[in-house]
Amino acid sequence: MLRAQDLSFSYGRGTAPVIDGWSAEFPEGTTTALTGPSGRGKSTLLYLLGLMLRPTAGEILIDGMPASTVRDAAKARLRADRFGFVFQDAALDQTRTVIDNVTETALYRGARRNDAARRGMELLDRFGVDVPADRKPGQVSGGQAQRIALCRALLSEPRILLADEPTGNLDPATTAVVVDALQEHAASGAAVIIVTHSPEVADACDRRIEL
Ligand code: ADP
Repeated sequence: MLRAQDLSFSYGRGTAPVIDGWSAEFPEGTTTALTGPSGRGKSTLLYLLGLMLRPTAGEILIDGMPASTVRDAAKARLRADRFGFVFQDAALDQTRTVIDNVTETALYRGARRNDAARRGMELLDRFGVDVPADRKPGQVSGGQAQRIALCRALLSEPRILLADEPTGNLDPATTAVVVDALQEHAASGAAVIIVTHSPEVADACDRRIEL
């Protein structure tokens, strides 16, 4: 389980904290919507929960283990093994094909290549990413890139999935497909955390935390 305890964070010495004494638990098997106005610190919080930023004070606990006690190399491994990320900018590898981007993390986690490719194609199809799988990410739209990143994250079956506005560029029908998939992933035993401005997406989640 993922837990934030008395978490504080500011971007520079002497600047006002973006996160100030914040605590929350993210149980496995649940989807949580993180909502709030722009600039309130939702993305920052996802980076903190994903161990990509170090809190100024407080602690992130993973299965009770304080992340601050984990050395950088082990932290990178922990991130790679446990976490899935869907960032706003998708963060795809521009030098590799769409399908290679989708299967990358699953292969790293030990999936078999044929199996990962087949399941990756199924996910792309489910999310309506209608581009040739051997295309490079530079030739797809923003909404498609986001769904490709989502396929990559889901395929690797992370126990903790952090998604930053994963439906931001999507039409209502595709949004519903994405929300279903995130719910399904949570039902398989994962903690799914979704930053969203969409009331529909927030309502579809098991819980909502307003920042
Ligand atoms: P949200 O996701 O809710 O829109 P953010 O976490 O992106 O909010 O930003 C929270 C605050 O932190 C904003 O005031 C933003 O300008 C500031 N901020 C975000 N990233 C940085 C950064 N890299 N350096 C300095 N300030 C930042």
